[in-house]
Amino acid sequence: MTFAFDNSYARLPERFHARLSPVPVARPTLVRLNRPLARRLGLDPEALSSPEGLAVLAGNAVPHGAEPLAMAYAGHQFGNFVARLGDGRAILLGEILDPSGERFDIQLKGSGRTPFSRAGDGRAWLGPVLREYLVSEAMRALGIPTTRVLAAVTTGEPVYRETSRPGAILTRVARGHVRIGTFEYFSARGDREAVRELADYVIARHDPEARAAERPYRALLDTVVARQADLVARWLGVGFIHGVMNTDNMSIAGETIDYGPCAFMDAYDPGTVFSSIDHRGRYAYGNQPRVAQWNLARLAQSLLPLLDEDQDKAIQDAQAAIDAFPQRFEQAYLGIFRAKLGLLEPRADDADLIDALLERMAETRADFTNGFRALCALAAGTDEARSAPLGEDGAFTDWIRRWRARLAQEAATPSERAARMRRANPAVIPRNHRVEAALEAAVAGDFRGFDALERVLANPWDDRPDMDPYTRPPEPHEIVRETFCGT
Ligand code: AMP
Ligand code: MG
Repeated sequence: MTFAFDNSYARLPERFHARLSPVPVARPTLVRLNRPLARRLGLDPEALSSPEGLAVLAGNAVPHGAEPLAMAYAGHQFGNFVARLGDGRAILLGEILDPSGERFDIQLKGSGRTPFSRAGDGRAWLGPVLREYLVSEAMRALGIPTTRVLAAVTTGEPVYRETSRPGAILTRVARGHVRIGTFEYFSARGDREAVRELADYVIARHDPEARAAERPYRALLDTVVARQADLVARWLGVGFIHGVMNTDNMSIAGETIDYGPCAFMDAYDPGTVFSSIDHRGRYAYGNQPRVAQWNLARLAQSLLPLLDEDQDKAIQDAQAAIDAFPQRFEQAYLGIFRAKLGLLEPRADDADLIDALLERMAETRADFTNGFRALCALAAGTDEARSAPLGEDGAFTDWIRRWRARLAQEAATPSERAARMRRANPAVIPRNHRVEAALEAAVAGDFRGFDALERVLANPWDDRPDMDPYTRPPEPHEIVRETFCGT
């Protein structure tokens, strides 16, 4: 099993990480290998599923060229600063370049204790591992930047989470694992040199055009702000709720990362929260843009010494970068929701049209996914029955009239428009009750539901008969009200 490692993060100074190998496990078994991803990375799926490959995926063997390490980072968790978090149960094996030269981190998660483990056991269990597999692949199919999962293995060892669970390790593939919390780690220690090295590292790896800018660090901040605004807008477009948007879970590369208590909204309600630990709704669906901006302000604060020698000027500069967030977000959000409504050209009252629809949806507790999908059918003018998710009682009649009048101002045939809208409005999302049911069965050894769900989620756009059961909102007794970090 060979990986063409080229480990840029391992070349950073020693205080950026702790070097150590994963802790071996008793009896590894390959549970799932993401073959398409393996091929995309230029890795051989057969080699990965061989005993040698499995040993690597389980942390029992360190492949040639790997420089295993746990990354240091801090983070604001629910608004409270924790100066030292770090990879408490993950090991970065190294970085590989895919055939097109794109760089990816290969990280084992659940690979045993590290100097950052605090009271934790350094392990993960099968349920959350499969959940990350399923949901991150679904996000990818939805066209949303995300880390991915190359493989899931069981360890043959129990993990204790209230009760005994099957231990598991996932192999995470990411464009990078630098988080806002990585900057905070060094900033909080007053280690300006490390903040600068980290910023230079990120510029070299993710934002080389910032280097050519007149003010590279400001350009870096602007880019991260823009990426995060775009990402959160995409989340809102599919009803995704991350659930634990702490600054240590916000990737500088702009990927969705850490699928702990994340969930998708069924009935539209901007206050929707699932995470069992989010008592105040800090990370509710509709709060996510505000929280992203708050997190970015923590990044800006960490970068202050790099922005200007004059600290007043640096603060002004940071403020300007953060103040750009709402507009950037709004632009991305409008772009996404315009597409969802089948609008091609921007008009001044689009935001109002979108808000009016969402208000009605909130009042009637319409299903978010099916509601927008119903609009696709209405746009096609073929299958009026599919408008049922928008209520048969006339709650949307006025709004639909207004929308049709707006559509009439644009030249597009109904079928063209409907086809376009179907690419902006998924027919299926990983509904929580479906995910929970599939995981429960899989953990008990029956993967039929998991595989079926994975297959359907791989193409969420085109109507297919096998999709129907997965498009139904939960019955009252099926509703999942709470999700867990699973750590
Ligand atoms: P998370 O909530 O998964 O983003 O993790 C937050 C912090 O807790 C990170 O520093 C993790 O490395 C650490 N952590 C989470 N679960 C464990 C565990 N089972 N053992 C050790 N550290 C953990
Ligand atoms: Mg995390």
